[in-house]
Amino acid sequence: NIQAPCDQLKVKPSLVKPIKMQEMYSVLAQLKKENRMSQVSAQEQITVKQKERLTLEKRPESIKVLIAEDNEINLFLAKTLIHKIIPQAQVIETRNGKEAVNQYVKEKPDLILMDIQMPLMNGLEATKQIRQLEREIHIPIIALTAGNMMGEKEKCIAAGMDDFMTKPIVKDDLSDMFSKWLGINECQVEKGKQSDVQHLDK
Ligand code: MN
Repeated sequence: NIQAPCDQLKVKPSLVKPIKMQEMYSVLAQLKKENRMSQVSAQEQITVKQKERLTLEKRPESIKVLIAEDNEINLFLAKTLIHKIIPQAQVIETRNGKEAVNQYVKEKPDLILMDIQMPLMNGLEATKQIRQLEREIHIPIIALTAGNMMGEKEKCIAAGMDDFMTKPIVKDDLSDMFSKWLGINECQVEKGKQSDVQHLDK
């Protein structure tokens, strides 16, 4: 019986000689189908890769978060909250979309927090540029939205953003984003305390 060794060696499709046209066709058609299915999940695979990479390293000090935010108070708040959740994280501060794209190229961050309204280049345009530049690894880009604009979330998605947080950002939301997109949970230092400072970006 040839079937058992075939199974063992994972030789999956097999044809019995003499090869018949119909059998050959169905084996080939099956191969094509499997191939197409793996293409469909290419995007998923990128995200999985990103998570795997982080899980493998699993060092909080190697986590880089890029913030793009033109309002100094909001920038400071985001930075403070990141450090409360992951004290050793590296934070890269940028104040407009152009700087964000440049720093993305230079620093290869693990996650980006992106304000929408910024001078020189807005967050939507910056996201589009980053998506065009990126290869292999899909960087999670989280929009920081004012939360009062019609169709804002749809625009964020269309630009290539992955998720959103309404400003003022609070620690629990940010913590959820880290675990959702990076698989990193808050360092259990001082949990349970809500963030104290909150400001709106006008
Ligand atoms: Mn702004």
